[in-house]
Amino acid sequence: MSYRAEYIWIDGTSPTAKLRSKTKILATDTMPPTWGFDGSSTNQAEGHASDRVLEPVFTCPDPIRGGDDVLVLCEVLNTDGTAHVSNTRASLAAVTQEFTGQQPLFGIEQEYTFFEGTRPLGFPENGFPAPQGGYYCGVGADEIFGREIVEQHLENCLAAGLEISGINAEVMPGQWEFQVGPLSPLEVSDQLWIARWLLYRTAEEYGVTVTLDPKPVKGDWNGAGAHTNFSTKAMRESYTAIIAACEALGEGSKPLDHVKNYGAGIDERLTGLHETAPWDEYTYGVSDRGASVRIPWQVEKDGKGYIEDRRPNANMDPYLVTRLITDTCCSALQKAGLA
Ligand code: ADP
Ligand code: MN
Ligand code: MN
Ligand code: MN
Repeated sequence: MSYRAEYIWIDGTSPTAKLRSKTKILATDTMPPTWGFDGSSTNQAEGHASDRVLEPVFTCPDPIRGGDDVLVLCEVLNTDGTAHVSNTRASLAAVTQEFTGQQPLFGIEQEYTFFEGTRPLGFPENGFPAPQGGYYCGVGADEIFGREIVEQHLENCLAAGLEISGINAEVMPGQWEFQVGPLSPLEVSDQLWIARWLLYRTAEEYGVTVTLDPKPVKGDWNGAGAHTNFSTKAMRESYTAIIAACEALGEGSKPLDHVKNYGAGIDERLTGLHETAPWDEYTYGVSDRGASVRIPWQVEKDGKGYIEDRRPNANMDPYLVTRLITDTCCSALQKAGLA
């Protein structure tokens, strides 16, 4: 008896990495073992020494194949066992180790856009659809494009055991969002990568492509982001810690250090228009969707909770983003005696 394991990994494509996967048939009574691949075909090696190692780090049921089949998310290693340069998960694991006592949690809002051929799903063959306004959380065939795929993706994520917390239609036709979390930095990041893979894979069945392009249509159309919601135990208990975290993100070179790692093309999306703050200015505020970091109104009212970093692009790497936020905020909270 056997089962199928779909090994999934993040490649070395620059500036935005792509997902890759391949299938291994395994005997029923065995765990998915370490495996390998040709790194020269994924921008992860030169041709003359191209073997790279796939190290399983997270396994869940495969909702596409069903039965006993599984999805296996992997880290990419060199043959000497060290992390490959494209492997951003390894350093997140190291940083979070240091701060587990603060119990950091993340909820990530992944926005994305469906495309059919060269046009966003729902865009007419010639010209543009009606301007933005009615599409966000809309209903009806004139406003909603791709709901069948979105529902199937949600179904697949839930069957895989992923902690999806919601979905909604976004501001532009063919644009949608799902949320993962709240979970620890490693868990939310692993689950987001698997949820992304399931999104591409689910849409494939419908002949529709998915893009995480942060600005899929130029002009007066919203970009696609990945708002990253964050809290520590102290922030879930006190407003002083909420403010300390917002301040920490604005210290010295932090705003630029963060934004540089929040996804390629971030300056095209963070223009100061379309519910964004300019990429080179750092601000925070209550209920402020034009700030870099928003404190939700409920959090101010309760005097505790979480903050929303609105800057990350849809195409961001969650291993990088959650590492930076954890490091910046948890270090500052520790120094301030708020850990
Ligand atoms: P928005 O109003 O910005 O569209 P969403 O409902 O899309 O908000 O997303 C809010 C996110 O915040 C969800 O992913 C949720 O899991 C996350 N979240 C809720 N509470 C916390 C918390 N204490 N720490 C971190 N994330 C949280
Ligand atoms: Mn949202
Ligand atoms: Mn959104
Ligand atoms: Mn948001």
